Amino acid sequence: MISTNPLAPLDDDKFHEECGVFGIFGSEDAAAMAALGLHALQHRGQESAGIVAYDGKHFNAHRDLGHVGDIFSSEEVMARLAGRAAIGHNRYSTTGETALRNVQPLFADLSLGGFALAHNGNLTNARHLRRQLVNQGAIFQSTSDTEAILHLIATSEAGSLIDRIIAALRQVEGAYSLVAMSSNCIFAVRDPMGVRPLVLGRLGNAYVVTSETCALDIIGAEFVRDIEAGELVVLDESGVHSLRPFPPAPRRPCIFEYIYFARPDSMMEGISIYETRKRIGAVLSEESGIDADVVIPVPDSGVPGAIGYSERSGIPFELGIIRNHYVGRTFIEPGQQIRNLGVKLKHNANRRYIEGKRVILVDDSIVRGTTSVKIVEMVRAAGATEVHMRIAAPPTTHSCFYGIDTPERSELLASSMDVEAMARHIGVDSLAFISIDGLYRAMGEPGRDAALPKFCDACFTGDYPIRLTDFEGHNEPAQLSLLAERA
Ligand code: SF4
Repeated sequence: MISTNPLAPLDDDKFHEECGVFGIFGSEDAAAMAALGLHALQHRGQESAGIVAYDGKHFNAHRDLGHVGDIFSSEEVMARLAGRAAIGHNRYSTTGETALRNVQPLFADLSLGGFALAHNGNLTNARHLRRQLVNQGAIFQSTSDTEAILHLIATSEAGSLIDRIIAALRQVEGAYSLVAMSSNCIFAVRDPMGVRPLVLGRLGNAYVVTSETCALDIIGAEFVRDIEAGELVVLDESGVHSLRPFPPAPRRPCIFEYIYFARPDSMMEGISIYETRKRIGAVLSEESGIDADVVIPVPDSGVPGAIGYSERSGIPFELGIIRNHYVGRTFIEPGQQIRNLGVKLKHNANRRYIEGKRVILVDDSIVRGTTSVKIVEMVRAAGATEVHMRIAAPPTTHSCFYGIDTPERSELLASSMDVEAMARHIGVDSLAFISIDGLYRAMGEPGRDAALPKFCDACFTGDYPIRLTDFEGHNEPAQLSLLAERA
């Protein structure tokens, strides 16, 4: 069913990255660096954050709901997080499962000592593993899939901690970039297909692992390299050690990171996110150019694509829609008067650049379409004579099961409508999406090689590169809650 809820907060009409991770070993200000890193990764998770630090004797943790800047603003909190090693995590969740018990990093006293774990991604056999573990007597404290990894490590019969981690990860399926910490090292692991990002950096004698390079920039760390798909890196007093514990698999990093999730000032796999988004806009213009007076981005995520579209088409770029960055989610809560204000809480038309003009609106993606309907209404009300929408992603027809918060497939506009029907639903004079081959061309590839795609693009193609064990037997994969299993 397509949601037309006028109350839906605008940011909820997007796919959402679920987590950012950060780890640093060998810095006197490890927790402060972690807090700064998490601040740079705030776009990857806005609902909770946590840091665990090791001071040479004890592990100390602070986790809370809210934004990084608020959670780690007190001197008292930071003083408790002393030590030369720390890992951190921030998390996004719309499921109501934002309870403090799910806030990472998770921590457990294992037989080999204290162990903290932070996870970006999603396991696709978590329910299966959880059932097995519960049958063996495990008692879960959270509803997060990450806890299954912790139990697998805790109950492993392997001798060393690293062997236990490897043995545990050989049992999990799904997408994961993990950062973990013991009393003498930090571990960083990327799943065998490298779906979620993870990079290595250096700050003086300290080493850093984190989701995106923007978290290195904020602390003045230099980028060393991407952690490879299937690589396990250990940071300890003697430096960086790399292991390849998994059978080789084709790399399939998430293509949506380049379209929307990652910060535009980050680099991934040697590719500039900002440059890529501009190239996507340029290819979009080549594929579906139309005569118009002005190219206007849906801010903020549509801006680089609109710049690329404008540059390639020669049609002027204008900020014809202004976004208010200071509207919190709670403000967009029920209350009839606020409901009626609708979209203007967050976006307003810059009328002078719209009135009497044929407008091309550029957005990064269409999920449910609720935002697009409102934006188009607003642009028409501001006097546009024509409204054409161009989308810097192919139609999102499938849900993500690899760590991105997405609606169920039935709620995705493109799962039940063709482009013409979507254009009528949104109320535009024309609508076009970049083609999947065009997207790959913007990524520097000749096109999508159907036999061996270079990226995970399942939300556009339904070609899921990692088995969806928990969803097998369902006619159509749906996002299933771990809680549903428990109920
Ligand atoms: Fe990324 Fe889409 Fe693959 Fe999820 S399904 S990992 S959002 S490309």
